[in-house]
Order: sequence, then structure tokens, then C-alpha cells
Amino acid sequence: MSMKTDIEIAREANKIHIRDVAAKLDIPEAELRQYGHDKAKLSQDFINSIQSKPDGKLVLVTAISPTPAGEGKTTTSVGLNDGLNRIGKKSVVCLREPSLGPCFGMKGGAAGGGKAQVIPMEDINLHFTGDFHAISAAHNLLSALIDNHINWGNELGIDVRRIAWRRVVDMNDRALRHIVASMGGLGNGYPRETGFDITVASEIMAIFCLAKDFDDLQVRLGNIIVGYTRDKAAIRAKDLNADGAMTVLLKDAFMPNLVQTLENNPAFIHGGPFANIAHGCNSVIATKTALKLADYVVTEAGFGADLGAEKFFDIKCRKAGLSPEAVVIVATVRALKMHGGVAKDALSTENVDAVKKGAENLVRHIGNVKKFGVPVVVGINHFIADTEAEIDAVKAIASEQGVKAITCKHWALGSEGTADLATEVVRVIEGENAQFAPLYPDDMPLLDKVKTIATSLYGASDVAADSKVRSQLKEWEAAGFGHLPVCIAKTQYSFSTDAKLMGAPTGHVIPVREVRLSAGAEFVVVVCGEIMTMPGLPRVPAANHIKLDTQGQIEGLF
Ligand code: ADP
Ligand code: MG
Repeated sequence: MSMKTDIEIAREANKIHIRDVAAKLDIPEAELRQYGHDKAKLSQDFINSIQSKPDGKLVLVTAISPTPAGEGKTTTSVGLNDGLNRIGKKSVVCLREPSLGPCFGMKGGAAGGGKAQVIPMEDINLHFTGDFHAISAAHNLLSALIDNHINWGNELGIDVRRIAWRRVVDMNDRALRHIVASMGGLGNGYPRETGFDITVASEIMAIFCLAKDFDDLQVRLGNIIVGYTRDKAAIRAKDLNADGAMTVLLKDAFMPNLVQTLENNPAFIHGGPFANIAHGCNSVIATKTALKLADYVVTEAGFGADLGAEKFFDIKCRKAGLSPEAVVIVATVRALKMHGGVAKDALSTENVDAVKKGAENLVRHIGNVKKFGVPVVVGINHFIADTEAEIDAVKAIASEQGVKAITCKHWALGSEGTADLATEVVRVIEGENAQFAPLYPDDMPLLDKVKTIATSLYGASDVAADSKVRSQLKEWEAAGFGHLPVCIAKTQYSFSTDAKLMGAPTGHVIPVREVRLSAGAEFVVVVCGEIMTMPGLPRVPAANHIKLDTQGQIEGLF
């Protein structure tokens, strides 16, 4: 058993040149925009040139409701991709780009773990190819244009009390959550309250990840609602003529990034929207490009399947016309034990009864995913302390649901540990006919969409919304936004809105606190509970231990 840290394993990898990774997908070197020898973007011309090719099979990796014990979706996505390549399939993994801020806090990076990682892990977790900086710049350009417009006479009549567009920075900086801008005198504009969100929470990030091409990108950027006039008429980014310049800032970022796994298999890492106020999936352009280049495409959605998979299906797949063929639900014995009531410090002791009890969470997720018409495989992400009896219990419970649970040891062994999972995924894709359909139709009223999700996926009895929320939704329906999907922002830890209610609760009510229109991203955000769009750092942040060693290599990143 390797006791090396993720960064040590990553650094010892036998990296191949990025042109050789590209060659595995028949991408000519001339079509790469290379960043050093181990990262590249794919040219837009090349992407345009492959559009007539047939699509490969799309596989989603999602998980049970997360616990502090950790589930390992990214690690399993990378492992499954390596497993598919190991059994002779042409496969690519599509992941989100990690956000910079959390690397210095508690969560660490997001490039997989153990023997299932994407590399160069330091670059991917830090500035990478600059995409997030470009997104921050495009976002803040719009912010600057708003205040500038007001400064020079406010011809559009923007009500400074009703500006919805904030600023962003890719850093966990709680001090910026609420600020007063334009202080310091006449030449600095009109002082007003505003604040910062983290870049991944920007609507531009969601737009970037849902746009089909440059035209679509510009249209969506132009449609962003930045605020309202005194009589509540919407002001859009295009009213400020901001859409052209914002698209220009995103021109290079919009090309998907190619890197490799520890086993030199191709990986696209592109875009990374929040999974609460946005849909939590990598870019449509990367996923669609990958489908043209490989027979299998493995992709991950954030949080548990109630949020991540639901938004992947109802927002990303619906809007992009994608048809997933299989879903892997990642479960760990440790997390199931926590769902079964075991405390975090007692997870290393065998407890088959707790596994069985906690498995109600897994069972709910299996049933939910099947409602979208896509076959399921359970991936048991193996941890060292898992016992044979506990694993057998998970397998038996999955089997009662008509699905197979496969033990995966990619974290310890790499692709050798996921060959079985890969084989089962291929068997399911070839043997069972996926009939993907979103959960609700476009033309259902917005609040009914929320109710449908809450009652059929969360086990809730109802949705509670006060008259302010209801009339806001009615107004948007009247204004032509009723056909949009809803994007539910709630805790990832529970099917309910109470993070402590683990397992598979029923009969609860989902309270809608607030609704927000993301007119450019084209969804209605339904906020159910406290949602943080600018995280903070813990008392002892990871940043305290991150430094360059005497060879100039990064220490302390995880
Ligand atoms: P997610 O994508 O679900 O947030 P990750 O795949 O990023 O989860 O994994 C979270 C953390 O757990 C990573 O640091 C990873 O190294 C660790 N991890 C994942 N699987 C295992 C495992 N089987 N054994 C030990 N650690 C693991
Ligand atoms: Mg992840």
C-alpha cells in the first residue's frame, strides 16, 4: 500500500508529451494550442471539423449523498476512464476545472487522488491555462461597465438599489462578501452596496459551460440581467453593449483543455460551475468534443445524485441534446455507515448493520437515476478499512435493486482496480437500452417543476413558497421564462433541506426561500436554505503549509 501523498504520486508519474496524448484521439499536433509539454487547448477549427463524426457513449459518474467521510467521484471518474482504456476501449474523461480558493482552505484540490489522478496536478489545481482568470475578467468587465454607465449619466436609468450583478474573485475571501463600492469622492462614482462571489459562482461560468459555440456564448452573455430600472424593467448586458467585449475575453478560454491521467489516458478539464446556484458540470463544448473523439466519455457531476445527476440530466443533457447511456453511483462503506448513524471517528470499526441501514440512501439514489431511463452501476470506492462482510452487504442491497455493485480499488491500484467496473459499464451500455428523458417537460409551470423534483426525487411531501416567490415565478412565466429548467440550490448532505437528516428521509417539506433568474445561463435558481457564494477560509488554512521546496517544487498542495 502506497502511503505517498497525492502530490508525490502525481510528481512521480511518467508523463508523456501532450501531442502523444492527443494522438490517442487522432488529434493532429497542429490543432493543439500547447501550454508547455503537458497541457493543450484544442483549436476551434479542429472542433468544427469533426462535427459530422458519430458520438461515443456518455457515462455519468455521480454519488450517494456526500458525508464528511468522502465519496470520491473525481477519483472514480479518473479510475473508470483508466479502466476502460485498460480493457481496450477508447475512452476520455471530462472533468471540471478546480477553483483556486478552496486549494488554500480545507477542501484541497480536485484532481482525483491516489493512483487515479489527472496531471500535472499542481497546474490543474492552480492557474492551469488561465480559464478562470479569463472568466473573472469577463465578469468584472461587466461590473465596471455598469458603474461606469451610471457615472456618465445613467442613460438606461439603472436603479442603483436594484443592481443584481456583483463582482468575482477566485479566492475564498469572506471579507468581500458585502462591501461598499465607489467610495472616495466625486470622481469615483456613486457609492453603493455590492459584494464579491467566488468565480465559480459567476453566471458567466454557467454560461461558459452551457454555450454550444461562440455565437451562443455571445447571445447568452448579452442576455444576462444586470439589474432593473425604477419601474422594474430588466437591464441586460447587451443594453450596455458588453457582450462583444466579454466574448473576446473568453475566446481562448472557451477551447477545451487536454491533459492526461497518471496512466497517460486523455482527459478534458474545462469549466467548473458551482453545483448549488449553478449546474455543477464541465463544459458542453468539452463533453461534445470528447464524444466525437472517443467511444466512451466518462464525466462527473458535483454533489450527490439528487443535485448533481438531476441537474446534469435536466439542465445540461436537456439543453445540449446529450443522451447518457449509463450512470455510475459512487458509494463508500464509510459514507454508508455515516448515513446509518455511525460517528466519523468510529468509521474504521466493522459495522454491517450500519451499512445496511445507511444503504437506504444509496437505494433512493438508484431509484431516482432509473427515473431518467438510464441504467445504473454502483461503484464501491474501496477504502483500506472496509471489510468483506460490509462490501457483501452493499452488493446484496444493490442486487435487490436489480443493479450490480462493483468493488473499485483505483485509489490504491490504478486501472487494475477498475477493470471490473469498466467491464460492467460496457456490458450495461451494450445490453440495456438507455431511454434517457428529463424528469419534467419544458412547458410545466416553474413551481410545478420544483414540486416534481422534490416529491419524486427527494421524498418530500410538498414544497412551501410564500406569495412573494410565487408571484415572482408567475411574472417570469409571463415574461417568457416559464420554459426554463429549474436549478435547485440546497444542502448536498440530505434529500431534505436539513443537512443533519441523513439516510433517506420522507414526508419533509422543501421551503423555497428565494428565486433568481439566470437569464443568460437559461435556468431559474431556486434557493432552498442558506447558500454561500463566497466561501471563507478555516482557522488554520491549507495555505499555511503550502510553499516551494529547495528545488522549486510545490509542497503542501493536496
Ligand atoms: P469528490 O469528487 O466526490 O469530491 P474526490 O474524488 O475528489 O471526491 O476525493 C476526495 C478525496 O478523497 C481525495 O483527496 C481523494 O484522494 C480521497 N479518496 C478518494 N478515494 C479514496 C480511497 N479509496 N481511499 C482513500 N482516499 C480516497
Ligand atoms: Mg469531484
